[in-house]
Amino acid sequence: MNTWPKELKRTKARLAVYGLLAQELRPLSPKEIHAKLGEAELWLSSVYRVLGQFEKANMVVRSNGVDLQNNLYELDPHEHKHYAVCIKCRTRFDLKDCPLNEEVEVNAKGFVVTEHRVEVLGYCATCMDALKKGSK
Ligand SMILES: [Zn+2]
Ligand SMILES: [Zn+2]
Repeated sequence: MNTWPKELKRTKARLAVYGLLAQELRPLSPKEIHAKLGEAELWLSSVYRVLGQFEKANMVVRSNGVDLQNNLYELDPHEHKHYAVCIKCRTRFDLKDCPLNEEVEVNAKGFVVTEHRVEVLGYCATCMDALKKGSK
């Protein structure tokens, strides 16, 4: 699991956001985090600020696959895993295998690959079912 970086003070706001991310098994948008923590706990602007700090400290990964207006944040698991995310309910399912070869070819001379991220989007069985029923 993650280790808290020494240079980052454990403020109430940071601990609240971190605790929520650790508890949820899916990426969350700042607005969702804010809604879950409650207005009294934290301003939305504080949530954005804390997430920015976490990102700088490599504690979270950010993705914007589902909704381009809303970045999603989750704790960086620091392991080689990829997920498929349901674009409706945002549940995550891990991919059985890494879809990329060990050798990723980059069209740039001298580029050194240190990591890669893969985002797979779609509908889970439950949401697909609901969609089908809704379209009838
Ligand atoms: Zn779903
Ligand atoms: Zn991979």
